[in-house]
Amino acid sequence: MQKYSHLSTRPRKIQYAILALLAVLVLAGSGWTLLVAQEPSMPSAGFLGAYGTAVFLLEIISAILLFAHYRQTGLLTFAALSMAYLWVAILAPVQVSLLSDSLNLFSLITASNGDAAWMWIAWHIGFPILVTAAMLVDGSHPIRARHTWRWAIGLFGGLFAVAGFVMAATLLSWFELPSLISQGRDFSDQLSLIYGPAVMFTCALALTVVVVKGKLENSIYSWLALAMLAALCEAVVVIYSGARFSYGWYAARVLSVVSSSAVVIALLIENIHLQHKVVRQNMTLKRMATMDELSGLANRRELDQRLRAEVKRAMRERTSISLIMLDVDHFKKFNDNHGHVTGDLCLKHVASCLQRNILRHTDLAARYGGEEFAILLPNTEEEDAADLAEHIRKTIAFSPILLEGDTMLSVTASFGVACLIPNRLEDASELLTTADAALYAAKGAGRNCVQRPPQSWHAGRDNLEQTISSNTHYLRESHPAEKKA
Ligand code: GH3
Ligand code: MG
Ligand code: MG
Repeated sequence: MQKYSHLSTRPRKIQYAILALLAVLVLAGSGWTLLVAQEPSMPSAGFLGAYGTAVFLLEIISAILLFAHYRQTGLLTFAALSMAYLWVAILAPVQVSLLSDSLNLFSLITASNGDAAWMWIAWHIGFPILVTAAMLVDGSHPIRARHTWRWAIGLFGGLFAVAGFVMAATLLSWFELPSLISQGRDFSDQLSLIYGPAVMFTCALALTVVVVKGKLENSIYSWLALAMLAALCEAVVVIYSGARFSYGWYAARVLSVVSSSAVVIALLIENIHLQHKVVRQNMTLKRMATMDELSGLANRRELDQRLRAEVKRAMRERTSISLIMLDVDHFKKFNDNHGHVTGDLCLKHVASCLQRNILRHTDLAARYGGEEFAILLPNTEEEDAADLAEHIRKTIAFSPILLEGDTMLSVTASFGVACLIPNRLEDASELLTTADAALYAAKGAGRNCVQRPPQSWHAGRDNLEQTISSNTHYLRESHPAEKKA
């Protein structure tokens, strides 16, 4: 059987409890209504308008959301359910307009408000038949993505054709249909004994199929069962009430609104669940894209992005930016002696030493790759960066890695520091290369130490700075606007 757990969630116990409570209320309310159902009341145009609008809006929203489910899953069940709701959305406004004589203004329309009963039957038989059909196709193979529109055009085109035929036949009086309502608004025997029970039967059939086949296994099927129960109760109450605009007739309209709103509630619950799921998954994806799994630090991608952003900021604000690169010493030997699992523990330990010593929220510690790490320090002078590197070097060298059985190991790391005031975007890679070269020098100097770039590099940067500033000065001087000033 086709499962669509990615779209439909199994309701929690609380939802089943609410559904059970609503089902009891619908049954008890309908039972109680039967006591006064046949008492006559007055026709109310306001009630009819509000009722027609509510049913139309609820049904059209359900139809659109169910169609969206069909598009996402390709499952015909959702297409048929969407058709069931669309069927009501098309017929309900016409039926209510006929009831309130609103269509009498149009000379072409020859239907009387007595024909509203036929429209009601078409609405109330068509809806459960389409719901039953939807449940019967549950479990069939999904339609292929490229064929979903073709199927939709065929199915919905057919639905519009049938609905158009029913409406035209009723409104233009194509057939001589027997009158189901007397002048005194009482229902005829045909309505009470044949068509009414036929409506009840199709509603009862749909309810049974929804419960037996759907097994209340997801929100939509569970709320659909409530919708069909309310539709069945509506049919029983309205037929028992025996006349239009009796108390029972009004109560049946309320049940009709319950039936219409049930699936909207299910779809809203479903959408809220989906939204939560998407937000959670997005957060996980974002974390995975920017974080190194083993160390919990930022990954190289994140470092590169932040470095570029910080270089741009430092260019605007004319501030310095520092980078520390560090590499665990003789780590290959460490792995060979203690195994890769202990090697991984060692990397986590080094990462925690970095994290502990980074205090500013703008600083970023990252695993650059293997046993190499980097710390980005925006708005930091070389002197301060070198001090921090020295502090971290000592922390790593003097804090032991605790293993099971009270075994303690220790490692050291070598550090390279670089600092510059960037003039161009390429200075991001200049900073990385310089810090890496200083790290290489630290390895050469016997490891477990901090190295900074040589004086010659600083002198080179100073010359470059001067050239750039004198060029800017020359450009300013030669600019006509600047000259005038
Ligand atoms: P040096 O002091 O010159 O840096 O020597 P080294 O042994 O640390 O350097 P080398 O580049 O020769 O070896 C790095 C080792 O780091 C080799 C590789 O197996 C190990 N390594 C890289 N990534 C990981 C990892 O994720 N986990 C573990 N356990 N080991 C890793
Ligand atoms: Mg190493
Ligand atoms: Mg290395």
